[in-house]
Amino acid sequence: MTLPVQTTEATPTRPTSGPTTAQAHLFHDGTVEEYRQAVAAGTDRVARRVAEATGPCTGVRPDQLLPLVDAIDLDRPLRDTTAALDELDEVYLRDAVYFHHPRYLAHLNCPVVIPALLGEAVLSAVNSSLDTWDQSAGGTLIERRLIDWTAGRIGLGPAADGVFTSGGTQSNLHALLLAREEALAGATPTDRRILLPQLRIITSAAGHFSVQKAAKLLGLAPDAVVVVQTGPDRRMRAGAVRHEIGRCRRAGLTVLAVVATAGTTDFGTIDPLDEIAEVCTTSGVWLHVDAAYGCGLLVSPTRRHLLAGIERADSVTVDYHKSFFQPVSSSAVLVRDRRTLRHATWHADYLNPARSVAERIPNQVDKSLQTTRRFDALKLWLTLRVMGPDAVGELFDEVCDRAAQAWELLAADPRFEVLTRSALSTVVFRWRPAGTPADLADAANLHARAELAASGLAVVAGTKVDGRHYLKFTVLNPATTAADVAYVLDLIAEHAGRYAHTHAVPAALTCPVG
Ligand SMILES: *Cc1c(COP(=O)(O)O)cnc(C)c1O
Repeated sequence: MTLPVQTTEATPTRPTSGPTTAQAHLFHDGTVEEYRQAVAAGTDRVARRVAEATGPCTGVRPDQLLPLVDAIDLDRPLRDTTAALDELDEVYLRDAVYFHHPRYLAHLNCPVVIPALLGEAVLSAVNSSLDTWDQSAGGTLIERRLIDWTAGRIGLGPAADGVFTSGGTQSNLHALLLAREEALAGATPTDRRILLPQLRIITSAAGHFSVQKAAKLLGLAPDAVVVVQTGPDRRMRAGAVRHEIGRCRRAGLTVLAVVATAGTTDFGTIDPLDEIAEVCTTSGVWLHVDAAYGCGLLVSPTRRHLLAGIERADSVTVDYHKSFFQPVSSSAVLVRDRRTLRHATWHADYLNPARSVAERIPNQVDKSLQTTRRFDALKLWLTLRVMGPDAVGELFDEVCDRAAQAWELLAADPRFEVLTRSALSTVVFRWRPAGTPADLADAANLHARAELAASGLAVVAGTKVDGRHYLKFTVLNPATTAADVAYVLDLIAEHAGRYAHTHAVPAALTCPVG
């Protein structure tokens, strides 16, 4: 009879002396109570701030906060969690910009769902790194399931794959790297040097600037991004894409990818994906769909059809931290053909040696531009497991409905002009009662936006359209009501009107005197 192995005897005993002071701050089996208390204390501070917020921000200026931050001596610790939280409240929490507030209407920042916050707390405490199986185990499998789930929602087919990234900027860079390598497939090093400056990317004037950045990082020519002008509907026309592909080819250039946008950052418009996919298929060009904003439609119970054609993409960017109500960071790049991911693979002997592929060990670093990588997927996982996809989609539907209401309000209001109606949750408009000179309107809108932020009552975004200053609502909070929107419009009209009143040049004075 064999005796059970006495594992306790084999385990090295811990030193009998107590932990050092520094070790008391490490998270381990002896400090779980400190961990619970510290995290609960931090959660409590945030909860209090969110509960008490009367506006999305306090309008604090850099010159007010800077002295407070500068005065802190980082080499003299407070040695007390409560004191550190008190200090943090002064330099950060009190004046932070709260996207949870219904009058935060500015950028593509969403309020976040509680299951994802729970995920965030778990993932940073366990601190898995998703580069290799031996640093993550189940984390790798969870990420893979979510990639498969997202690819399934898009309809990319059985060979699809992808990986989580830090954001849409990285997802776009990653996709365009793969597209560049596909375009250069089989080229010798000499060929590559000749071909690289001849590569082009076609996108629209409403596409995201990260495409330009990616082109720069990918070593392409300064004029590598061919920008197609959009019509008044702010969508890229398939005919224009076809035209540009032809023009590039006649000039001896190679189009490595067309980037269509499903949810432009400024207008929330969706390019005609199916028509553009048709052009890309017939001309054999890689289609990347930047759905950083529009990806929420993948779970929308009523609007999924707006993404029709996305299933024909070669690669897709999704930002769960834009329209899935996830905390930053949470994004992914998806590809139709998993083999293309090999262009980001590098085998390091210490990490993911080539033999691990033969041994079928799932090492996500083989697919990623990053090495050490957060387990961001856990946030989406818990969101889906607690709420389910329909509930997330309903939230996104609500903000799209709210933006449509805001558009109606603006269209009926003689104080304002409103641009293109968004498919998503963006409204671009400006204060300009009839007869207001364009330059004065520009200045008045800029002024109103700044005053609004300084008051802390609301935050709206601004943008330039055809050289003129406009204001922008990006509605991502289902708690924002039509009354909130109407209130903010009144505030804008008040600030802009007062500015215009004091700065208007009386017509008589503009005539040359004498
Ligand atoms: C926000 C956005 C990006 C960039 O995503 P980040 O997560 O901010 O890096 C790219 N494309 C579009 C259309 C976006 O709206």
